[in-house]
Amino acid sequence: MKMAHAYRDKLVVGNWKMHGNTLENQARFDALRGHVRRYTETVKIAVCVPFPYLPQAERGLHQSGISWGTQDVSPHAHGAYTGEVSADMAREFGARYVIVGHSERRAYHSESATEIAMKARRALESGLTPIVCVGESLEERELDRTNDVVASQLNTVLDSLSVYERLQLVFAYEPVWAIGTGRTASPAQAQDVHAHIRTLLVSRDRELVNLSILYGGSVKAGNAENLFAETDIDGALVGGASLDPVEFTGICAAAHQAAQK
Ligand code: PEP
Repeated sequence: MKMAHAYRDKLVVGNWKMHGNTLENQARFDALRGHVRRYTETVKIAVCVPFPYLPQAERGLHQSGISWGTQDVSPHAHGAYTGEVSADMAREFGARYVIVGHSERRAYHSESATEIAMKARRALESGLTPIVCVGESLEERELDRTNDVVASQLNTVLDSLSVYERLQLVFAYEPVWAIGTGRTASPAQAQDVHAHIRTLLVSRDRELVNLSILYGGSVKAGNAENLFAETDIDGALVGGASLDPVEFTGICAAAHQAAQK
């Protein structure tokens, strides 16, 4: 499948994690259509829902300009892999994005860097845009290993892809110590790592300078504007605050403002 190359798209993606039910989801889809849709001319907006709710997302967001996706995908195309969901299956329900290598999956499902690279590749083969998460633990930050950890996570994915495939990626810098903790990296801390990621990308292929790099970790309406003001922060991957329509709308509004500058 042919896909357009990214050009520093402003992108805000909600990660609903394992929250919601059909009733709550409907209220969230209605709120997205009612309040968030107005920002889709300047900002790409998506929500990554639990697998069973893909058909509901397809119905609820149809022709809204807001995309949907999944929070994981199988590294295999098809076959005897009980419990797995393939990228082609997600595509059948209109999914556009998939989060790969989220720190919760690395931690609770022992996902290896190689497996994450396979997932990204499989997603691309099916026409999904992988949002590849990278980020250090608190211990790694305190040992001053942030840049090395991020470089190793990023390079394992890049190594498994062609230049053309690399151009379809989105990266999300998510310091593990800032996820779901209420503790956000300061805009300057986040910018340092984003600049490092962009330098790493350019050192691999010059064209990768235009990939979108999102920040994730306790982003809220109240801190989004300052984060988005940083040169290398192109948007956000939002967990907790994506479940609250007022918060999520505020984050999308901040991205819209940043896109107009
Ligand atoms: C996430 O799960 O990707 C995330 C960033 O979570 P939170 O916004 O809740 O920290």
